[in-house]
Amino acid sequence: MEPSTTPVADAAIRTDCVIVGAGPCGLFQVFELGLLGISAHIVDSLTNPGGQCTELYPDKPIYDIPALPVCGAQELVDRLMEQIKPFHPQFHLGQEVSQLQRRDDGRFSLQTAAGTRFDAATVVIAAGVGSFQPRRIGLEGAEPFEGQQIHYRVRDAQQYHGKALMIFGGGDSALDWAIEFAPKARSLTLVHRRAEFRAAPASVARMRELGAAGKLNYIEGLADSLLVDGARLRGIRVKAKDGSLHDVAAEQVFAFFGLHPKLGPVAEWGLAMEKKTLNVDTEKFQTSVPGIFAIGDVNHYPGKKKLILSGFHEAALAAFAIQAHLNPGKKQFLQYTTTSPVMHKRLGVTGE
Ligand SMILES: Cc1cc2nc3c(=O)[nH]c(=O)nc-3n(C[C@H](O)[C@H](O)[C@H](O)COP(=O)(O)OP(=O)(O)OC[C@H]3O[C@@H](n4cnc5c(N)ncnc54)[C@H](O)[C@@H]3O)c2cc1C
Repeated sequence: MEPSTTPVADAAIRTDCVIVGAGPCGLFQVFELGLLGISAHIVDSLTNPGGQCTELYPDKPIYDIPALPVCGAQELVDRLMEQIKPFHPQFHLGQEVSQLQRRDDGRFSLQTAAGTRFDAATVVIAAGVGSFQPRRIGLEGAEPFEGQQIHYRVRDAQQYHGKALMIFGGGDSALDWAIEFAPKARSLTLVHRRAEFRAAPASVARMRELGAAGKLNYIEGLADSLLVDGARLRGIRVKAKDGSLHDVAAEQVFAFFGLHPKLGPVAEWGLAMEKKTLNVDTEKFQTSVPGIFAIGDVNHYPGKKKLILSGFHEAALAAFAIQAHLNPGKKQFLQYTTTSPVMHKRLGVTGE
């Protein structure tokens, strides 16, 4: 069954399987299901697939993926994306799965925070250590301004051109956006708490050039408090490293303090858990609710190791269990990708 296309306002997308989480294990789950002729929808709260590999260490080399002596973390994700192409998974990115309920007919209703709804025969939770959330600015009274004048990601960069901007942070996002906005903003102040930056050295050098050219004001310090004018944020008071206070005018403020994982809704779905992980068996990697499976860092069983290759194995066995769940009583056959004409057809290869 091919997955449905774009969701219609009220219509739930009907599918054999929804995978919650597009980290390396969720992506490989698409492949293992695809080999068995089962198509899937895959949802992630992040706007890019890849989970921890993409968010936390994209440029780092991984040395323990079988048959790949060394593989960059983002390269691994890119390779997985290539590998699952024949199965045309439908991605729903930038959406957290907020609700999961078992229905009386044994199927599952899922809903994302963006309102996308699914009617799924099975669910695989591949939620890793949780959905990544931006670290917030943490100033008193900031909440009403979040999403209005205080942002943790840039959406539609053009709307900020010609504005008085402030950027907090010292990583790649902070520096990349400072460099991008500096020539286009009315004013731009970059604030970072220490002299060392986590961003690429070339970006730091470029930022310093922009500072020398008067296009960017840099303060080594911390956000101290909000400067508010009625319901409007007019800037931020910054405490510099030497203890001096600076009132910086800003119409829009960006804080790029990185992301932290939050298990979030997964813990509220009534599944048996142990220390923020979902209990599964090691035959099917099924949770305490039949039809809901959990693979990768999010699951727990005796001897569990939070490694990508463990998650890959779990995805393979979960796929067979899902096939059995969808076709109760039907005999299962193990087929090799090397020799199976059916699998070759699914993979779109000739097998020669
Ligand atoms: C610095 C570092 C180095 C590492 N090096 C290695 C290594 O060398 N070898 C190795 O094997 N492992 C390594 N790991 C561990 C490896 O990255 C993890 O085991 C792997 O990422 C787990 O994959 P996953 O798909 O289970 O989860 P994740 O990669 O955590 O992905 C889970 C995804 O689920 C999404 N999600 C969660 N909840 C929801 C929700 N409710 N709705 C929508 N989306 C949701 C998250 O946004 C995330 O994208 C390393 C980890 C780190 C941090």
